[in-house]
Formats: sequence, structure tokens, C-alpha cells
Amino acid sequence: MPDGKVLVTGATGFIAGHCIDELLTHGYAVRGTVRDLETADVAHLWAIARRTGGSLEFVETSLDADAGWGRAVDGCSDVWHIASPVPANVPKDENEVIRPAVEGTLRVLRAAAASGTVRRVVMTSSTDAITYGHRRADQVRTEASWSNAGQTAPYPKSKVYAEKAAWEFVADQPLELVTINPGLVLGPLLRREQKISMEVIRMLLANKLPAIPRLSFPVVDVRDVSLAHRLAMETPKAAGNRYICVDKSMWMGDIAGVLHAEFGPRGYRIPARVLPYWLMWVGARFDKTMRLALGNYGVPVRVSPDKAKQELGWTPRSARESIIAAGESLIRYGIVPPRGRDKDANPLTAADTAA
Ligand code: NDP
Repeated sequence: MPDGKVLVTGATGFIAGHCIDELLTHGYAVRGTVRDLETADVAHLWAIARRTGGSLEFVETSLDADAGWGRAVDGCSDVWHIASPVPANVPKDENEVIRPAVEGTLRVLRAAAASGTVRRVVMTSSTDAITYGHRRADQVRTEASWSNAGQTAPYPKSKVYAEKAAWEFVADQPLELVTINPGLVLGPLLRREQKISMEVIRMLLANKLPAIPRLSFPVVDVRDVSLAHRLAMETPKAAGNRYICVDKSMWMGDIAGVLHAEFGPRGYRIPARVLPYWLMWVGARFDKTMRLALGNYGVPVRVSPDKAKQELGWTPRSARESIIAAGESLIRYGIVPPRGRDKDANPLTAADTAA
């Protein structure tokens, strides 16, 4: 049984929930940070703690304030810094996303460095910090690449700036840092929540898109992202490294194809028509999100997970499995209206998922 306690920031989040499951299942004690102890929805996490018999506690902190971070890291051997704003829409002021991401990261790292007990911080960055704004789209991007932040939307910018700030901070600190850079994270939900990374699946499965834009997504399963965090913490030579975590990149049309094959026979209607570039261009004149996506139209995201596979021994499940698990979970939690025989199934609860 490991003797360290691991601090997980942003315990209420989609990825953090699976990370807490991964830690508790493997015998680690977990302390999670939440913004408000009274209102945070953590029933699904308590259900996991009951199932695993693991030790779980919460502390109140915010990325926006210094208060509480000293107490949060106190006695912890490692930190998984996962919290960061993941906005559903493009904010009017980019600093709504960038400031908490960067300043929050520095707050976590400062507290970890001052604790005297924290050995390693595993930070959740993103392939968005790697793949954007490169002139040569045909090249496979590795951990040596950084997105050109000046040419990106506020969210990818926040991931670039926060990750760079973290590497700069640890450069002269006795603190180890590893970053996990996942692609689009899919897979099962642990509770009924509408997550932005699952929007692609929700919109396709609920037939909310008249046509499918030619956009490329590097898909990874949330369960494999949490596994990568644990391997990054446990592998001594991982210190000082970034790890891209994806299974493979898929066009949105191919994701729709997987959903059609699996859910079509069960009564779900998945769009198949392709949204041509010219129509997206017209839409982009009126819609900010489409405007930001326009530059990615027809551009394949090429990233390699080889380093994580070789150095961490990480083996992701197939993108197909993640897509289907995401679809099943959106239906079972009632986020996508059930069709056919699925209408007779009882909706899932957090306790069901933890079981
Ligand atoms: P969620 O939105 O589910 O989780 C985000 C977490 O961050 C929540 O716990 C949220 O708390 C917390 N948070 C946000 N802003 C603040 C703040 N100002 N102070 C304190 N806590 C805050 O997102 P995901 O689980 O999808 O993402 C988790 C991490 O993974 C992020 O760093 C994200 O950038 C990264 N990532 C996600 C990908 C994806 O496809 N989902 C892909 C690549 C990287 P609260 O519940 O209180 O809002």
C-alpha cells in the first residue's frame, strides 16, 4: 500500500474524478480541492471511496486566491494539478481563462515547493499546448513542439501559458514536474454532467448537427488519461518530461461513423452529411466559435503518443471504445434522449457508476 497522500486539484472535474478513482483503486490516500466545500457535488467521489475503501478528504481552495493552498499540500507527497478553466464558450475577455490557469498553477507550485513534503507535481496540460499555429500541418508533432499561442483561442493560449509558467517555475526549485498532454478526452462520465469535451459526441448522437465539419480530433479515453497521471507519478525517470496522451486522431466524420455503426441499429440518427468549407466560412462571419474553428477546417491533428508508450509503458484503449463508452454514458445519464429500447432502461446515478 503506497504511503503517500496525493493532492488532486479541481476534484469536481471530469478528468479529476477518474484520477481520484485511479488513485484510490491503487491504494493512495487522496485530498481533493474544491471551490466550495458546502456546494461542491462530490457524491460520485464518495461512492468511489466507499467502493475502494480508500481514504478521501477535501479542502477548499480557488485558483484565484492564495488562501488555502498551504493547507491543501500539507503532508502530501505528490500533487496532480488538474484544475483549470475549461470554458463552454469563447469568453469576451481571454483573461477570464488565462489568469486562473497561469496564476492558479503558480499558486499550486509555490505551495508545493514550500511544503517540504511534495516530491513531484503531475500537471494536466493538453495537446492544445502543442499542436496549434504551426505552418507545416503535415508534420507529426511531438513533445518538443509548442503551439504558437499568439494564433490561438483563449483556452489553448491558457494551456500554453500555464504549462510554460510551470516549467519556468520548477527550473530553479527542488520540485519535479511532469506534464500529461491529452487530446480530446472521451469515455464514461461519473455523474450527470455536460462536459465540453463530450459535446462532439452529444451533438452527433442527439442529431443536433445538420452537417459535419471536417475537423480532426486526437481522441483519448479519460480512464487512460488517469492511468497516464499515475504512471507519470510512479515512473522515476518521467521527471522533467511532457507526455502526449492520445490513441489516434480522427475526423469528426469518422467519429460519426463509429457512432452510427454502434447506435444506429438502436434507433439513433447520426448525421452523415459533410459541412463544406464555404458554408463554414459563411457561418464563421456570424459565430465566434465557428470563426475559431475555421482555421482548423481540413487540417489533420498529427501527434505521436510514442514517448508515453515507451517511457511510461502506457497503452491506451482504442478511440472507438472511448467513443462508444462516451455515447453509452450520455444516454444512460439522460443527457442524450434515449431512443428505442434504451427508453426502458433506468437512468444511471453516480452510485451506479462507482459500483
Ligand atoms: P472540468 O471542467 O470537468 O474540470 C475543471 C476543474 O477545474 C473543475 O473541478 C473546476 O472546478 C476547476 N476550476 C476551474 N476554474 C477554477 C478556479 N478558478 N478555481 C478553482 N478551480 C477551478 O474539465 P476537465 O476535467 O475536462 O479538464 C481538467 C483538466 O484537463 C484541465 O486542466 C483541462 O485543461 C485539461 N484537459 C482537458 C481535456 C478534455 O478534453 N476534457 C483535454 C486536454 C486537457 P468547478 O467544478 O468548481 O468549476
